[in-house]
Amino acid sequence: MRRIGSKDTEPEIAVRRLVWSLGVRYRLHRHDLPGRPDLVFSSSKRIIFVHGCFWHCHRRCRRAHVPRTNQTYWIPKLQRNLQRDRANLRRLRVKGWNVLVIWECETTDQVVLQSKLKTFFK
Ligand SMILES: [Zn+2]
Repeated sequence: MRRIGSKDTEPEIAVRRLVWSLGVRYRLHRHDLPGRPDLVFSSSKRIIFVHGCFWHCHRRCRRAHVPRTNQTYWIPKLQRNLQRDRANLRRLRVKGWNVLVIWECETTDQVVLQSKLKTFFK
């Protein structure tokens, strides 16, 4: 399982490659923005987060199950992640950023991912 904030995960690389192929340029991991977004498109005020399904509690996703053991540890921990994500999204949107969240499980289908990105950059 991946740590939150780890760099260069496979889903992230898949997204970056597609964004690049669409001819859009970006900056990575800007530390001055809430949640340290994975991709930042400053000139068009757009942000993409690539979220791991487990750590970011993707709803109704089979990758996002709570581990059976040690639930007193995991449930509050994952809950905190979820609340932090929501707060970060809210803060960014209030500041006028257009935010797209791409889930890890969505990065395996290149066609779906590409159309999602195209729509976002329209
Ligand atoms: Zn998922």
